[in-house]
Amino acid sequence: MTTTLFSFDNSYARLPERFFAKVAPTPVRSPGLVKINEGLARELGVDPEELASAAGVAALAGNVVPAGAEPLAQVYAGHQFGGWSPRLGDGRAILLGEVIDGSGRRRDVQLKGSGPTPYSRRGDGRAWLGPVLREYVVSEAMHALGVPTTRALAAVSTGEPVLRERGALPGAVLTRVAASHVRVGTLQYFAGRGDEEGLRALVEYVIARHYPAAEGALGLLEAVIAAQARLVAAWMAVGFIHGVMNTDNTSISGETIDYGPCAFMDGFDPNKVFSSIDEGGRYAYSNQPQVMLWNLAQLANALLPLIAAERGAAIAAATSALAGFSGLYQAAWLAHFRAKLGLREAREGDLGLIEGLLGRMAAQEADFTRTFRGLADGSARAEFKAPAVFEDWAIGWRARLAEEGATVVERGAALRAANPGLIPRNHRIEEAIQAAVGGNLAPFERLVAALSRPFEDQPAHAALTAAPRPEEVVRATFCGT
Ligand code: AMP
Ligand code: MG
Repeated sequence: MTTTLFSFDNSYARLPERFFAKVAPTPVRSPGLVKINEGLARELGVDPEELASAAGVAALAGNVVPAGAEPLAQVYAGHQFGGWSPRLGDGRAILLGEVIDGSGRRRDVQLKGSGPTPYSRRGDGRAWLGPVLREYVVSEAMHALGVPTTRALAAVSTGEPVLRERGALPGAVLTRVAASHVRVGTLQYFAGRGDEEGLRALVEYVIARHYPAAEGALGLLEAVIAAQARLVAAWMAVGFIHGVMNTDNTSISGETIDYGPCAFMDGFDPNKVFSSIDEGGRYAYSNQPQVMLWNLAQLANALLPLIAAERGAAIAAATSALAGFSGLYQAAWLAHFRAKLGLREAREGDLGLIEGLLGRMAAQEADFTRTFRGLADGSARAEFKAPAVFEDWAIGWRARLAEEGATVVERGAALRAANPGLIPRNHRIEEAIQAAVGGNLAPFERLVAALSRPFEDQPAHAALTAAPRPEEVVRATFCGT
């Protein structure tokens, strides 16, 4: 059985052989369709009906290698929780190939959970349905929220059990689409081995693919710094906690990648951590910009040999590029939060106004999403245990809006466009996964459908905008392994 699903044009496979291991997906017992992302399929020039056919599902499960695919696992290194791992690589993911989408952009098509690779170490190369659905829901929600992210093209079941700590769980494969899967850790891999030729080839490759205007390794570093500053600011503006910001999970393209123990906050807590393995809170919400800067410093370090021939000069140039991160991040963050308050003009004191609200929200454990959404219709105060705490802040906010010659009502549409009503809340994701494991995909379908329009008021999905009841609160999330 062969199938032509994608019009592949594979550039990564043309890189030197030491950049990857050619490895085909391992077939599974009984592939089953869970979900096809029809809109994304069309964007990629793929017929959604063909994807959903038996031949399509067989390809998405890894039982058939579609025509034109050149399956490979990419090698990379990375700092995990600050500790250096010289070789990680795709242990449970296989790149099928690349397609050029309708806008002329090159996109990776990758299977995640498709069986072992030479980089699997002790892992089984598999994923269970829970993390696959979690990544599907959250990455698609992030896209709808306007946050740069990898996408989910499909989820299929394997008909095979996957053994995890909690027992045997249903296996699944996610098809992930990305601008590329090159990570900070990919460049670190070559730098770490002293393979300057490999490093140079990869730098040329990512410049051509992602930042064609960048000049050399320093230009690349500056471009990634700018993209990641914008990305983390966008995370902060929606209350997103990545959870495992290792350098191997930090993309060069500036997309959010690797949805493991990630989560959106309910009640606002700047120190919030969900990941069960993040004991020291390294990747807590408010640490994310600092951690990103640390990751970018590792990228800078990897690029040093290509930045300047003389090490001192290279370090000086890299240091000065890294010094730009905080200004870029602050500017992006301020732009997001000004918009979230409905402010059009930039004025002195804006930072204080924003921090005044966030501080009160933290003290009152006000729901992050509901408070900001509630600014438009006057319901924000109800998110505070003591509504007077909000009202006290709102006096200054309304005065500030009046200085722009506007009222809350006049800014209603802008406020709603900057503050989503719907986010993928943990308890809803858990509920959808539990139902799916029991064979009921309806809650998952409903979540995906509702989250595709997060800025609209959707009366039919009003229940999904609610904060969890105390007994529904999810306190910990787990890596997808
Ligand atoms: P992650 O925490 O998902 O970023 O994964 C870190 C590393 O562990 C990557 O190299 C993964 O490919 C690898 N890995 C995670 N889970 C598995 C698994 N089930 N089998 C093989 N490798 C895995
Ligand atoms: Mg990873």
